[in-house]
Amino acid sequence: MAELEGPEFGKADFVLLDEVTMEQFLQNLRLRFLQGRIYTYIGEVVVAVNPYRALALYGPPAVEHYRGRELYERPPHLFALADAAYKAMKRRAKDTCIVISGESGAGKTEASKYIMQYIAAITNPSQRAEVERVKNVLLKSNCVLEAFGNAKTNRNDNSSRFGKYMDINFDFKGDPTGGHIHNYLLEKSRVLQQQPGERNFHAFYQLLLGAPAALLASLHLCRDPGTYRYTQEGTPGSACGDDAAGYRAVEEAMSIIGFSQEEMGSVRRILAAILHLGNIGFMAEGEVAAVEDMAQLPVLAELVATAPENLHRALLTRTVAAGGGELIEKGHSPKEAAYARDACAKAIYERLFCWIVGRINAGIATHGYDARLHGKSTVIGVLDIYGFEIFDTNSFEQFCINYCNEKLQQLFIELILRQEQAEYQREGITWQSIEYFSNEPIVELVEQPHRGILALLDEACLAAGTVTDSLFLASMDTRLGCHPHYTSRKLCPTDKTMEFNRDFRIKHYAGDVTYSVEGFLDKNKDTLFQDFKRLLYNSTDPVLRAMWPDGEQSITEVTKRPLTTGTLFKNSIVALVENLASKEPYYVRCIKPNDQKSPTLFDEERCRHQVSYLGLLENVRVRRAGFAYRQPYHRFLLRYKMTCEYTWPNHLMASDREATQALLEQHGFQDDVAYGHTKVFIRTPRTLFCLEQERTQL
Ligand code: ADP
Ligand code: MG
Repeated sequence: MAELEGPEFGKADFVLLDEVTMEQFLQNLRLRFLQGRIYTYIGEVVVAVNPYRALALYGPPAVEHYRGRELYERPPHLFALADAAYKAMKRRAKDTCIVISGESGAGKTEASKYIMQYIAAITNPSQRAEVERVKNVLLKSNCVLEAFGNAKTNRNDNSSRFGKYMDINFDFKGDPTGGHIHNYLLEKSRVLQQQPGERNFHAFYQLLLGAPAALLASLHLCRDPGTYRYTQEGTPGSACGDDAAGYRAVEEAMSIIGFSQEEMGSVRRILAAILHLGNIGFMAEGEVAAVEDMAQLPVLAELVATAPENLHRALLTRTVAAGGGELIEKGHSPKEAAYARDACAKAIYERLFCWIVGRINAGIATHGYDARLHGKSTVIGVLDIYGFEIFDTNSFEQFCINYCNEKLQQLFIELILRQEQAEYQREGITWQSIEYFSNEPIVELVEQPHRGILALLDEACLAAGTVTDSLFLASMDTRLGCHPHYTSRKLCPTDKTMEFNRDFRIKHYAGDVTYSVEGFLDKNKDTLFQDFKRLLYNSTDPVLRAMWPDGEQSITEVTKRPLTTGTLFKNSIVALVENLASKEPYYVRCIKPNDQKSPTLFDEERCRHQVSYLGLLENVRVRRAGFAYRQPYHRFLLRYKMTCEYTWPNHLMASDREATQALLEQHGFQDDVAYGHTKVFIRTPRTLFCLEQERTQL
């Protein structure tokens, strides 16, 4: 029950709704959104609606307003949540994490930045230089990661195309001493191709539009993104002034983080190389491919610091092991060459991104931290990861992203319930478990060893070259046909919303999603010929070389198949969930009010859908199933003591607990409350309304 907000702003906590219905939930959400009250609690969860306008909510006065306060003392805010996580970390030495979820454009990344900004503002009062440096790197890393990992999409002009989990380490004083960023599944197919109206990653346009003319000339680039196949689509309207400013901001951020001039030079050359690589065309020369315009090769070879003849060979041939350990060079067809070129461009970009993340991590690593000298280091983790995606056509990427959301949702429900139970236990209050929807079967459908979709996909990828996407679909139909959350056109021939031999559907907790299997095998295998790896490993550019440690192997050594994209992703998500589960979680659930980026439009249907698949009503019910409201005795008295003669102005009883009991009994609420060791628990919100009314009527 947040103070300082009048009833005209609706309920500051959804547990206070008269009834837990979708209608009431939406009504409250709308009312608050329209009045610029974009944050609302469900207990300790913050529900945030993207305001699509600048609100004066985040400046230094706001920081002071929330610093060191309890969650319910002030109107709901991200800062209150950040402060709660910080306090738990500092006072109770708990590792905590803040999990931010919601669909694309809902405001997750902005929220994560405000949280970081708040933590930076309240720490290091003594201005220790090393702590300031770490804080600066943490804050500036956003700018660099967004340049390389974000892009304009139709849903969000600055959409993160990767998942991010950032740990911030604190010393015993509660000051940040380091951190670590994990990145998840960058959408690298975007390097090659974008949907109409979308763009490639910002970094390309920033370079083209922001680099000084002489630098651009040295990279053999021209200003116009339309010149390059990989940036053509984004051209109309992409020449916004932002890109040039973005270029300068990124350069500055990189030098603050500690990238050397040489490293930044390498990064620019690698970006330029990708653009040039995309423009290389192939033609048929007899059976095999030849490069259309040989004049392009020396330029590209210079940028990747390798000999043109080696580049030429890697573009047109692959080395294969013949019988008896013999190596032979096999020429690509033009189609194969184009495919290999694109695979190489994607791989270079992905490894560049990972190298940048690694480089940032190196600058804030805490391996020098000595726990014996400084006490235990505690951690706050911030997770900003892609939300559930349902597009017109859903492919392998959506499949992975939605699987990740199933896992996080499962964790959310379990932890919220577990936390509730733990609190009742701690306070010595009996409580009965409640029923809730478990998405375990869906998670199993995807990840179960040998039987799940990912296992069947790997099996298909391992089979000889003849297995196609539609054969993979057929194998799922046979082996998963009975699963209650799986279907396909073959299993359900009357359903014309799916196509034969192409689509399958999963009943996710958030709704049904139809996936097209086209490209599943390819994207999962993610083949890049060893010839390219070796070429780049042998580059004289130290950054490029460092990105390809696996290029050292010769083809005969590369016998073991690398793990597939799907399996790697699964492993990383399982590790992420384990990590989150070991911490005390705080949640921000972001909602996108409309698809027009309008600050005034509350699209009821869109919001209804999000509230439903984020499981927010369920969350309110869980919270109310036990006790909707709880508060330490002294705080409770501070707020309500004026409503009772025994407690006003001060009680004379042995304890705050007895005084609270006397107050509640005088009002006749004894059946609706429980008394814990340190807190009073109130079951129904109505009791609280009555108390609030008593209070305001005085
Ligand atoms: P997500 O990461 O969920 O895809 P973003 O955080 O990038 O979404 O938000 C999308 C856009 O919405 C931002 O670029 C910004 O214009 C706007 N926005 C989000 N949150 C806020 C906020 N708290 N205040 C003002 N604008 C916001
Ligand atoms: Mg984002």
